[in-house]
Amino acid sequence: MLEHLNREVFATGEHIFQEGDVGDCAYIIEEGSVQIYVRDGQRERVVGAIGKGELFGEVALIDHQPRTASVRALENTVLVTVHRKLMDGLLEQTNPIVRHLLLVILERFRVTRNKEALPTVTRRSDELTELNISAAQRDTIRGEATQKLTLARDITRALAKGEFELYYQPICELTQGHVAGFEALIRWNHPKDGLISPLDFIWLAEQTGQIREIGLWTLERACMDWPELRSRTNYPAPFVSVNLSATQLTGVGLIDDVKTIMALHNMPPTELKLELTETVIINNPDVALDLLGKLGGLGSTLALDDFGTGHSGLVSLQRYPIGTIKIDIAFIRKLIESPQSMTIVRSSINLAHSLGMNVVAEGVETEEIWRVLLEMGCDFGQGWHFGRPAELKVGRKN
Ligand code: C2E
Ligand code: CA
Ligand code: CA
Repeated sequence: MLEHLNREVFATGEHIFQEGDVGDCAYIIEEGSVQIYVRDGQRERVVGAIGKGELFGEVALIDHQPRTASVRALENTVLVTVHRKLMDGLLEQTNPIVRHLLLVILERFRVTRNKEALPTVTRRSDELTELNISAAQRDTIRGEATQKLTLARDITRALAKGEFELYYQPICELTQGHVAGFEALIRWNHPKDGLISPLDFIWLAEQTGQIREIGLWTLERACMDWPELRSRTNYPAPFVSVNLSATQLTGVGLIDDVKTIMALHNMPPTELKLELTETVIINNPDVALDLLGKLGGLGSTLALDDFGTGHSGLVSLQRYPIGTIKIDIAFIRKLIESPQSMTIVRSSINLAHSLGMNVVAEGVETEEIWRVLLEMGCDFGQGWHFGRPAELKVGRKN
């Protein structure tokens, strides 16, 4: 594998990276040696020197944080660079628990040390005693890490035992209030803790990569339920919306998996909507463009979730094949009392329409808000007023 990696040559005294730089690669020393130091006010404090065969810069590479130490060549040095893309690819393929374990260890390492990039081999055990960290803080860190690992293990068990359930919330067209479609929202029916909200576990499933398996389960369940759900709509172009997370987008094989699931369950692509947030797109612009293009190519439409909470604005998202925007609940809730929200919502609707997109308002809790939205020309509404997320009990095919 090493023969495919790039090499970089540094002259004596030359910096490889400096504290604060954004880290996007780790280095293996092929020839020569380097010195690692941190700044202490105006002074430099040397923390170590390493040579041939050793690795540095790996922490920032994995956890996407800026470098917290500087490294310079002590002699003419040849380094093999390991780029984040390669590392991400390797991490993607690894077992989710191993991946999570690695991230937890790195997080702990960050908090305890707060000074970077010392290769493990150069750290002496007595260095830990230099750390300015109390026993209570250590216990907290350890407690959080253990909690996360337990939850990650429970998620794996929940997938195996079929403890997840899909609830559906109606999305109504605003002129008549007829049901046009549904959003699929996951719940965890925990044997001890009862019904758990997605807000309590999706974040971790995203970190561990388990969201990929959860996402495929969700998509398949929604496709299987669609014939029954469809019969409960009253709209010429009905749809079911499924949430996609960033980790699903950057994983391998998403398009093939989506295609396979849709074919298996005879899901008409035009009746499937995939929801993702602005942040997901902005953080992965190239992957997003490629994948969203392919998803759009299948005939499915894309909805921009939680619109207004990011900072990009619709115009910068124009190159993506987005058919729907979902205005975030935060703006809808304040609609009546806040003239500012009123302006934001009204102009978002107009802009979306001028770009050929339709608009869903999230969190429509009262008839009054429905009427205001209708007057503004909003197309669809979702919220307590039209119906809460509910199980599909009748007629489910397993
Ligand atoms: P979201 O995609 O923004 O989903 C809408 C959330 O707003 C849902 O919360 C829904 O129950 C809630 N909601 C709908 N109408 C109203 C209303 O009138 N008032 C109020 N106060 N809330 C309303 P829920 O089901 O707890 O889901 C929370 C988030 O979890 C979702 O936010 C979504 O980001 C994530 N999520 C849910 N299911 C999935 C899934 O299958 N996959 C992924 N990746 N994320 C999911
Ligand atoms: Ca959503
Ligand atoms: Ca939303």
